[in-house]
Amino acid sequence: MPRQFFVGGNFKMNGTIKSIKDIISGLNDAKLDGETEVVISPPSLYLLLARENLKKGIEVAAQNVFDKPNGAFTGEISVEQLKDSGITWTILGHSERRTLLAETDDFVASKTKVATDGGLSVILCCGETLEQREAGTTTDVVTSQLKAVADKISDWSKIVIAYEPIWAIGTGKVASTEQAQEVHAAIRKWLSDAVSSDAAEATRILYGGSVSEKNCVELAKQPDIDGFLVGGASLKPAFYDIINAKA
Ligand code: PGA
Repeated sequence: MPRQFFVGGNFKMNGTIKSIKDIISGLNDAKLDGETEVVISPPSLYLLLARENLKKGIEVAAQNVFDKPNGAFTGEISVEQLKDSGITWTILGHSERRTLLAETDDFVASKTKVATDGGLSVILCCGETLEQREAGTTTDVVTSQLKAVADKISDWSKIVIAYEPIWAIGTGKVASTEQAQEVHAAIRKWLSDAVSSDAAEATRILYGGSVSEKNCVELAKQPDIDGFLVGGASLKPAFYDIINAKA
Protein backbone atom coordinates (compact mmCIF):
# COMPACT_ATOMS: atom_id res chain seq x y z
CA MET A 1 0.00 0.00 0.00
CA PRO A 2 1.40 3.45 -0.82
CA ARG A 3 2.19 5.59 2.20
CA GLN A 4 -0.27 8.45 2.70
CA PHE A 5 1.37 11.86 2.36
CA PHE A 6 1.48 13.63 5.74
CA VAL A 7 1.93 17.29 6.61
CA GLY A 8 2.24 18.51 10.21
CA GLY A 9 2.23 22.13 11.31
CA ASN A 10 4.35 22.82 14.39
CA PHE A 11 3.32 26.24 15.69
CA LYS A 12 5.95 26.05 18.48
CA MET A 13 5.44 28.81 21.11
CA ASN A 14 3.62 31.12 18.71
CA GLY A 15 0.10 32.49 18.48
CA THR A 16 -2.75 34.02 20.42
CA ILE A 17 -6.42 33.04 20.66
CA LYS A 18 -7.12 35.40 17.77
CA SER A 19 -4.25 34.38 15.49
CA ILE A 20 -4.86 30.66 16.05
CA LYS A 21 -8.57 31.06 15.34
CA ASP A 22 -7.63 32.89 12.14
CA ILE A 23 -5.24 30.10 11.06
CA ILE A 24 -7.93 27.51 11.77
CA SER A 25 -10.66 29.28 9.84
CA GLY A 26 -8.19 29.66 6.96
CA LEU A 27 -7.51 25.92 7.04
CA ASN A 28 -11.20 25.10 7.30
CA ASP A 29 -11.91 27.12 4.15
CA ALA A 30 -8.79 26.33 2.10
CA LYS A 31 -8.82 23.96 -0.83
CA LEU A 32 -6.63 21.14 0.49
CA ASP A 33 -5.54 17.91 -1.15
CA GLY A 34 -7.88 15.32 0.39
CA GLU A 35 -5.16 12.69 -0.03
CA THR A 36 -2.87 14.43 2.47
CA GLU A 37 -3.17 13.69 6.19
CA VAL A 38 -2.96 17.04 8.01
CA VAL A 39 -2.17 17.58 11.70
CA ILE A 40 -1.59 20.92 13.43
CA SER A 41 0.24 21.42 16.69
CA PRO A 42 -0.50 24.64 18.59
CA PRO A 43 0.87 25.39 22.06
CA SER A 44 -0.85 23.29 24.75
CA LEU A 45 -2.97 26.19 25.99
CA TYR A 46 -4.70 26.28 22.59
CA LEU A 47 -5.12 22.55 21.89
CA LEU A 48 -8.80 22.49 22.90
CA LEU A 49 -9.52 25.72 21.08
CA ALA A 50 -8.00 24.18 17.96
CA ARG A 51 -9.91 20.92 18.34
CA GLU A 52 -13.21 22.73 18.90
CA ASN A 53 -12.82 25.02 15.90
CA LEU A 54 -11.07 22.82 13.36
CA LYS A 55 -13.09 20.86 10.84
CA LYS A 56 -13.24 17.07 11.02
CA GLY A 57 -10.51 15.33 9.09
CA ILE A 58 -7.70 17.56 10.37
CA GLU A 59 -6.18 16.29 13.61
CA VAL A 60 -4.49 18.15 16.45
CA ALA A 61 -1.13 17.27 18.04
CA ALA A 62 0.37 18.29 21.35
CA GLN A 63 4.01 19.42 21.19
CA ASN A 64 4.94 17.14 24.10
CA VAL A 65 3.42 14.67 26.56
CA PHE A 66 4.67 13.21 29.86
CA ASP A 67 5.44 9.54 30.51
CA LYS A 68 3.48 9.20 33.76
CA PRO A 69 -0.31 8.65 33.99
CA ASN A 70 -1.10 11.37 36.59
CA GLY A 71 0.13 12.87 39.82
CA ALA A 72 2.55 15.44 41.16
CA PHE A 73 4.21 16.50 37.90
CA THR A 74 3.83 20.26 37.77
CA GLY A 75 3.58 21.66 34.27
CA GLU A 76 3.12 18.33 32.52
CA ILE A 77 0.19 16.86 30.55
CA SER A 78 -0.73 13.17 30.35
CA VAL A 79 -1.70 10.93 27.46
CA GLU A 80 -5.18 10.43 28.99
CA GLN A 81 -5.70 14.18 29.32
CA LEU A 82 -4.87 14.65 25.65
CA LYS A 83 -7.22 11.86 24.61
CA ASP A 84 -9.95 13.25 26.88
CA SER A 85 -9.66 16.50 24.91
CA GLY A 86 -9.83 14.87 21.48
CA ILE A 87 -6.10 15.33 20.81
CA THR A 88 -4.93 12.27 18.89
CA TRP A 89 -1.28 13.08 18.17
CA THR A 90 1.81 14.39 19.89
CA ILE A 91 5.17 15.57 18.64
CA LEU A 92 8.04 14.06 20.65
CA GLY A 93 11.80 14.54 20.63
CA HIS A 94 11.83 17.86 18.80
CA SER A 95 15.41 19.16 18.68
CA GLU A 96 14.41 22.33 20.51
CA ARG A 97 13.36 20.18 23.48
CA ARG A 98 16.41 17.92 23.15
CA THR A 99 18.83 20.85 23.13
CA LEU A 100 17.14 23.61 25.16
CA LEU A 101 15.45 21.33 27.72
CA ALA A 102 18.09 18.57 27.78
CA GLU A 103 15.71 15.75 26.83
CA THR A 104 17.70 12.55 26.41
CA ASP A 105 17.13 9.83 23.78
CA ASP A 106 15.97 7.56 26.60
CA PHE A 107 13.40 10.06 27.93
CA VAL A 108 12.04 10.66 24.43
CA ALA A 109 11.80 6.89 23.94
CA SER A 110 10.00 6.44 27.26
CA LYS A 111 7.45 9.11 26.33
CA THR A 112 7.00 7.54 22.89
CA LYS A 113 6.25 4.19 24.49
CA VAL A 114 3.72 5.59 26.95
CA ALA A 115 2.03 7.66 24.23
CA THR A 116 1.69 4.83 21.72
CA ASP A 117 0.68 2.29 24.39
CA GLY A 118 -2.03 4.76 25.42
CA GLY A 119 -3.30 5.05 21.85
CA LEU A 120 -1.79 8.37 20.78
CA SER A 121 0.01 8.73 17.48
CA VAL A 122 3.49 10.24 17.61
CA ILE A 123 5.52 12.47 15.32
CA LEU A 124 8.97 11.34 16.47
CA CYS A 125 11.70 13.85 15.60
CA CYS A 126 15.36 13.15 14.99
CA GLY A 127 18.20 15.04 13.37
CA GLU A 128 21.84 16.04 13.50
CA THR A 129 23.70 19.27 14.26
CA LEU A 130 25.87 20.98 11.65
CA GLU A 131 29.02 19.74 13.44
CA GLN A 132 27.75 16.16 13.35
CA ARG A 133 26.94 16.46 9.63
CA GLU A 134 30.37 17.88 8.90
CA ALA A 135 31.96 15.06 10.90
CA GLY A 136 30.11 12.55 8.71
CA THR A 137 28.08 11.10 11.59
CA THR A 138 24.56 12.04 10.47
CA THR A 139 23.30 8.47 9.97
CA ASP A 140 24.82 7.30 13.28
CA VAL A 141 23.26 10.19 15.20
CA VAL A 142 19.82 9.76 13.70
CA THR A 143 19.72 5.98 13.98
CA SER A 144 20.93 6.04 17.57
CA GLN A 145 18.10 8.46 18.45
CA LEU A 146 15.68 6.01 16.80
CA LYS A 147 17.31 2.95 18.35
CA ALA A 148 16.48 4.26 21.82
CA VAL A 149 12.82 4.00 20.76
CA ALA A 150 13.25 0.59 19.12
CA ASP A 151 14.75 -0.67 22.40
CA LYS A 152 11.43 0.07 24.12
CA ILE A 153 8.77 -0.62 21.48
CA SER A 154 8.24 -3.02 18.62
CA ASP A 155 4.99 -1.66 17.13
CA TRP A 156 5.80 1.35 14.93
CA SER A 157 2.30 1.61 13.42
CA LYS A 158 1.43 4.74 15.43
CA ILE A 159 4.72 6.51 14.71
CA VAL A 160 5.62 8.96 11.98
CA ILE A 161 9.32 9.84 11.90
CA ALA A 162 10.35 13.44 11.23
CA TYR A 163 13.92 13.89 10.05
CA GLU A 164 14.86 17.47 10.92
CA PRO A 165 18.50 18.51 10.48
CA ILE A 166 19.02 21.04 13.27
CA TRP A 167 21.01 23.34 10.99
CA ALA A 168 17.96 23.64 8.72
CA ILE A 169 15.37 24.47 11.39
CA GLY A 170 14.22 28.07 11.28
CA THR A 171 17.32 29.09 9.36
CA GLY A 172 15.95 29.29 5.83
CA LYS A 173 18.71 26.81 4.97
CA VAL A 174 16.82 23.81 3.65
CA ALA A 175 18.57 20.47 3.08
CA SER A 176 19.01 19.76 -0.62
CA THR A 177 16.66 17.16 -2.05
CA GLU A 178 19.67 14.79 -2.33
CA GLN A 179 20.77 15.37 1.27
CA ALA A 180 17.23 14.78 2.57
CA GLN A 181 16.56 11.74 0.38
CA GLU A 182 19.89 10.18 1.41
CA VAL A 183 19.06 10.37 5.12
CA HIS A 184 15.45 9.26 4.58
CA ALA A 185 16.68 6.21 2.69
CA ALA A 186 19.16 5.45 5.48
CA ILE A 187 16.36 5.69 8.07
CA ARG A 188 14.20 3.34 6.00
CA LYS A 189 17.06 0.86 5.72
CA TRP A 190 17.60 1.09 9.48
CA LEU A 191 13.88 0.40 10.05
CA SER A 192 14.15 -2.65 7.82
CA ASP A 193 17.23 -3.98 9.64
CA ALA A 194 16.30 -3.03 13.22
CA VAL A 195 12.50 -3.31 13.25
CA SER A 196 11.01 -5.14 10.25
CA SER A 197 10.61 -4.86 6.51
CA ASP A 198 6.90 -4.20 7.05
CA ALA A 199 7.67 -1.25 9.33
CA ALA A 200 10.18 0.07 6.77
CA GLU A 201 7.56 -0.15 4.05
CA ALA A 202 4.71 1.41 6.06
CA THR A 203 6.33 4.10 8.23
CA ARG A 204 6.04 7.66 6.97
CA ILE A 205 9.31 9.62 7.12
CA LEU A 206 8.78 13.39 7.05
CA TYR A 207 11.34 16.05 6.28
CA GLY A 208 11.44 19.17 8.47
CA GLY A 209 13.62 22.28 8.41
CA SER A 210 12.79 25.47 6.47
CA VAL A 211 10.14 23.76 4.33
CA SER A 212 8.37 26.39 2.24
CA GLU A 213 5.92 26.68 -0.63
CA LYS A 214 9.00 27.09 -2.85
CA ASN A 215 10.95 23.93 -1.99
CA CYS A 216 8.15 21.49 -1.05
CA VAL A 217 7.29 20.20 -4.52
CA GLU A 218 10.82 19.01 -5.34
CA LEU A 219 11.31 17.48 -1.89
CA ALA A 220 7.94 15.69 -2.13
CA LYS A 221 9.07 13.96 -5.35
CA GLN A 222 11.78 12.02 -3.53
CA PRO A 223 10.87 8.37 -3.08
CA ASP A 224 11.52 8.25 0.68
CA ILE A 225 10.04 11.65 1.62
CA ASP A 226 6.47 11.02 2.75
CA GLY A 227 5.58 14.50 3.90
CA PHE A 228 6.75 17.41 6.03
CA LEU A 229 6.88 18.81 9.53
CA VAL A 230 6.54 22.54 9.00
CA GLY A 231 7.39 25.24 11.55
CA GLY A 232 7.38 28.88 10.45
CA ALA A 233 5.43 28.34 7.22
CA SER A 234 2.61 26.53 9.07
CA LEU A 235 1.54 29.91 10.48
CA LYS A 236 1.00 31.32 6.99
CA PRO A 237 -1.15 30.57 3.94
CA ALA A 238 2.00 28.98 2.42
CA PHE A 239 0.99 25.98 4.56
CA TYR A 240 -1.84 25.20 2.11
CA ASP A 241 0.65 24.96 -0.77
CA ILE A 242 2.81 22.59 1.30
CA ILE A 243 -0.23 20.39 2.08
CA ASN A 244 -0.91 20.38 -1.66
CA ALA A 245 2.70 19.60 -2.65
CA LYS A 246 1.71 16.30 -4.23
CA ALA A 247 -1.49 17.52 -5.90
P1 PGA B 1 10.92 25.42 10.43
O1 PGA B 1 10.74 24.44 11.69
O2 PGA B 1 9.98 24.92 9.35
O3 PGA B 1 10.52 26.78 10.96
O4 PGA B 1 12.33 25.35 10.01
C1 PGA B 1 10.53 23.05 11.51
C2 PGA B 1 10.42 22.37 12.84
O5 PGA B 1 11.15 22.74 13.78
O6 PGA B 1 9.60 21.44 13.02
